[in-house]
Amino acid sequence: MQADEIVATLEPWRARNRRPAWTPVVEAGDGPATASKFCGTPWTGPDAPWPDCGLCRRPLQPFLQLDLDDLPDELGRPFGTGLLQLFYCTREECQGAGGWAPFADDLSRVRVVHPGGGGPATPAPEAPAFPAKRIVGWTRLDDLPGPQDHDDNGLTYTYDFKAGTLRFECPEVGLDHTGPINACPAEQIATAAPGDKLGGWPYWVQGAEYPACPRCARRMALVFQLDSEGHVPFMFGDAGCGHVTQCPEHKDVVAFGWACG
Ligand SMILES: [Zn+2]
Ligand SMILES: [Zn+2]
Repeated sequence: MQADEIVATLEPWRARNRRPAWTPVVEAGDGPATASKFCGTPWTGPDAPWPDCGLCRRPLQPFLQLDLDDLPDELGRPFGTGLLQLFYCTREECQGAGGWAPFADDLSRVRVVHPGGGGPATPAPEAPAFPAKRIVGWTRLDDLPGPQDHDDNGLTYTYDFKAGTLRFECPEVGLDHTGPINACPAEQIATAAPGDKLGGWPYWVQGAEYPACPRCARRMALVFQLDSEGHVPFMFGDAGCGHVTQCPEHKDVVAFGWACG
């Protein structure tokens, strides 16, 4: 079988795993405190003050705020309500000291807040350094799982490096084929979109790293992928890619992690 034939045989598998994702459409400027945005001034309140870095103890840079009540209709509100906020320490002295591990609460802080009532918002103790970009819309795309997610979804690869062969097995389409090891790379069958996006499949730089919910141990789901030097002018390690995930059951359990090559 040629690569084209393998991919064609797997089309029903691709169709089943196809998920919508949305890339943000942005405009320069901050907008209201509760707007979806990159950087700028996030909503803060008496019960949700501006968070500090767990290492240097200074105010974190806002990276992302998503109004969960104002996402594309097709998504169907799987992420609950409120504002999802991600903050990160961009200070030189803290880089290399963490930030990549979900739930570490060191360089990053991610949370869901519910604006309304209460007193005045807490002023930022320090002006945010990155320019604000308001998210004014979304562009839909069809996303597919990256190679690291194929196995869990019914497509397995068995590499025999000694023989120089690769066996593809996907029972749901009746595929069991062994061919030359480089004839059809997994990336050619399906790969996740890199870059900033809402929903879809994670683009993993290394292995699949879905955190488990500390409350119920469920596998957490991708909410937003934040890539290096995308809408936020920051590089995670060496061109790493970050993921905000959420427990499908506990909408207030959110995590952020990243990996680089
Ligand atoms: Zn810091
Ligand atoms: Zn949970």
